[in-house]
Amino acid sequence: MKGVSTIIRVVVCGAAGRMGSEVVRTVSREDGMELVGAVDRHNLGVDVGVLAGVGPLGVMVSDDLEGVLVSTQPDVMVDFTTPTSVAANARTALRAGVRPVIGTTGMDPNDLADLGRLSAELRVGTVVAPNFAIGAVLMMKFAEMAAKFFPAVEIIELHHDQKLDAPSGTALRTAEKISLARGDYRQNTRSAVATLEGVRGGCYDGGIRIHSVRLPGLVAHQEVIFGGLGQTLTLRHDSISRESFMHGVVLAIHRVMGLEEMVVGLENLIFE
Ligand code: NAP
Repeated sequence: MKGVSTIIRVVVCGAAGRMGSEVVRTVSREDGMELVGAVDRHNLGVDVGVLAGVGPLGVMVSDDLEGVLVSTQPDVMVDFTTPTSVAANARTALRAGVRPVIGTTGMDPNDLADLGRLSAELRVGTVVAPNFAIGAVLMMKFAEMAAKFFPAVEIIELHHDQKLDAPSGTALRTAEKISLARGDYRQNTRSAVATLEGVRGGCYDGGIRIHSVRLPGLVAHQEVIFGGLGQTLTLRHDSISRESFMHGVVLAIHRVMGLEEMVVGLENLIFE
């Protein structure tokens, strides 16, 4: 594993994408961090700072993650790519001694378990968070509290129409947490369904129904609606811009430096 230097050297994978660009902007402005590499399948050879609108950073987009890790010797790799790319990227990073901070959702649960084992075996920390927005983490916490009082609940998650996975990682995690809090958790083997044709209103952990809405104009939103005798309780969180995730990403980059295993969920970094 790379030594802990005062400046955290960061590579962004998926750097030309919507979330990756936001991470590039954030890391390039953050004290104590340096953006040293940018990986994507688009805009190869283009300065990633120009792409992200912050001016030249001298970091060109490459499609060779392994090469970038060798040439830039980063401490952390932030991944916002796709459900089918993320596990391989994280394995490549871990084997190079680089700590993954993963925001990509829709990862196969078996891949997640494998990454957990590899992270612990190599003693290279990993953070995986389906939602880096503090408001969303609190919404999940409040849903856990309400679950004990309201046995009936459904989740509606609403996202932009380019999102590849359904239901969202946040909705799946919320269902898992509610059913664990109620004590009726039974793992649903069905993982996230790729494409917009995916299941709508399907039953997930604890038999909880999740409805997925995909529309242009949306960013990332979720309602958890509890129903009881003569009353309902609605918890709602809205990410109205991708900046909402950046405080959590920065926190995870700092905290992964002190980890020697995988931590799943931002709540396990901020509420412990
Ligand atoms: P996006 O705009 O499509 O960006 C993803 C980028 O990664 C694309 O340019 C994609 O290229 C590239 N890519 C795919 N595989 C790659 C690989 N192996 N190596 C390098 N680059 C690769 O997607 P987005 O909206 O930024 O979302 C990215 C992920 O973050 C999604 O899973 C989304 O659900 C998740 N997300 C998480 C949070 C959170 O808080 N955790 C918040 C928002 C979004 P191609 O177009 O060729 O695939």
